[in-house]
Amino acid sequence: MNYKDKIREIENFPEEGISFKDITTVLKDPKYLKETIDELTDYFSDVDVDIVVGPESRGFIFATPVAYNLGAGFVPVRKPGKLPAEVEKFEYDLEYGKDALEIHVDAIMDGMKVLIIDDLLATGGTISATAKLVEKLGGEVVGLGFFIELVDLNGRDKLDKYNVKSIVKY
Ligand code: IMP
Repeated sequence: MNYKDKIREIENFPEEGISFKDITTVLKDPKYLKETIDELTDYFSDVDVDIVVGPESRGFIFATPVAYNLGAGFVPVRKPGKLPAEVEKFEYDLEYGKDALEIHVDAIMDGMKVLIIDDLLATGGTISATAKLVEKLGGEVVGLGFFIELVDLNGRDKLDKYNVKSIVKY
């Protein structure tokens, strides 16, 4: 599979200087969609997984079918104010300002084995915050999986205690 030919790169989106990796061109191709989900599943097929967590919103697309394949459940992590029941919140610093993510407090039980899947690893801020939420609820993070990794942004440095896998590296 030649993923880099399939991923559409949009220059200066959403801001000047960013080369945005558009995954919609991969998702709409049945062969690529299947291969992407199968590869992510294969990375963790030997790992015991109770729950797959996906951060909003592109994480949902990849995490849910991986959960289905592994026979696990799916739990969403969302931007503040979106989840209806009681939440745990984690705030983290951005280059300018702060952001936050939330998870339902009853989504993960103590000792559950949790795999986190997202579309793309950049600085690692989103995934670190997601892992912190899982750990606050007593979950054990057993792996982190990404479709794309932007290697130059060194997201992996923040994640060295985890089992990190990615399919396409830029
Ligand atoms: P990080 O928190 O800096 O690692 O950024 C990762 C998050 O930003 C992921 O949830 C991605 O969905 C999103 N993201 C950052 N850059 C891109 C891109 O080029 N294409 C698609 N999503 C991106």
